Amino acid sequence: MSRDALVFYSPVDDPVAWREALTAELPDLDFRVDPEVGDPADIRYALVWVPPKGFFARFPNLQLVTNLGAGVDALVRRDDLVPVKFSRLNDPGMVAMMTSYVVFAVTRYARDIPVFERAKRRGEWDYVHPRALSDIKVAVLGLGELGGPAARTLAAMGFTVTGWSRSKKDIEGVSSETGRDGLERVLAGNEIIVSLLPLTPESRGILGARELALMPKGAKFVNASRGAVVDEAALIAALRSGHVGEATLDVFETEPLPPGHPFWTLDNVLITPHLASITVPKLAARDVAESIRRVRQGLAPLHEVDPGRGY
Ligand code: NDP
Repeated sequence: MSRDALVFYSPVDDPVAWREALTAELPDLDFRVDPEVGDPADIRYALVWVPPKGFFARFPNLQLVTNLGAGVDALVRRDDLVPVKFSRLNDPGMVAMMTSYVVFAVTRYARDIPVFERAKRRGEWDYVHPRALSDIKVAVLGLGELGGPAARTLAAMGFTVTGWSRSKKDIEGVSSETGRDGLERVLAGNEIIVSLLPLTPESRGILGARELALMPKGAKFVNASRGAVVDEAALIAALRSGHVGEATLDVFETEPLPPGHPFWTLDNVLITPHLASITVPKLAARDVAESIRRVRQGLAPLHEVDPGRGY
C-alpha cells in the first residue's frame, strides 16, 4: 500500500516555506523534497518548477502536477508529460500584485509621468495639462485570472477599458472583444495596450510588426505576461521610430535581459526584472491544498491547466 506523498522540486522556490504553508493546510500530507523522495510509488502529487527531463515518469502513482507559478508555457511544451491532471498557482495575493503593477504602468502613462521624468533630468518645468481618465482608452489582452481583475480595476478607476480574450467576457465596465478582427480593432482603438496573454503556440509573436503598426502613433505598450508574445525586433523598431511611444516591460524572450540588449538603451522603455506578480507560499498554499483534496475525491483540481490548449 503506497502512501499519500507530494514531491517538491524547484531551483528557485523555498521548500521550507512551502512545506510549512502546505502542511498547515494538510497536516496528513507527506511532503518530500527532491531528491529525497523515498519510495517513488508513494508520490501522488508533484509541486514543481521546471523539473529535469524525465522527472514525472519516475512516479508510477502520480495523479496531479501543480506548476509553481501562473505561467505554464515551460511545462506544457515539454515532451515528457505523463497523463495526469495539471494545475497551476493562483491566489488573491498574486492577483492583487499584478493588478497593482498594471495600475502603476497604465497610470504612469495616463498622467504623463515619463514626460516629467525627462523634464526633471533637464531641470525644466514642463507642464502638460492632465486628461480625464475616461478619455484614455486602455486595452487588456488576456482576461484570465490576472487580466480580468486588472481590467475591472482600471475600469473602476475611470479608464475606458476594452479586453480581448478567446471567449467573450462579461466584466463590469469592460468591453469584450474576441477573434482576429477583435484584436485588430482593439489595437487600433486604444492608446495603452497591456498584455496579460499566456504564451502558447497561438500567442507566440502575436504582436508582430503588422500588429504594432495598427496601434495609434505614440501608443504605450505594457507587457507583464511573457516576452515572446511580442516580436521583440519589431517592438524595438517601433520604439525607435516613435510609432510605439513608450513601453513598460517586465518580461523578455531571454531572461535575465542580456547586457547590451537594445531595450537597455532605449529612453522610452521602463524595464522591471520579471516581478510584476510573485507567489507567497502562505497565500497560495490554500488552493494547492484544495486541489489535492479534490483530486483525492476524483474531482478536477482548482486552476486546472489543459496541456493541449497550452494554458
Ligand atoms: P489565464 O490562463 O487565467 O488567462 C489567460 C487569458 O488569455 C484568458 O482570458 C484567455 O482567454 C486568453 N487567451 C489565451 N490564449 C488566447 C488567444 N490565443 N487569443 C486570445 N486570448 C487568449 O492566465 P492568467 O491571467 O493567470 O496569467 C496570464 C499570464 O501572465 C500567465 O500565462 C503568465 O505567463 C503571466 N504571468 C506573469 C507574471 C509576472 O510576474 N510577470 C506572474 C504571473 C503570470 P479565455 O478566457 O477565453 O480562455
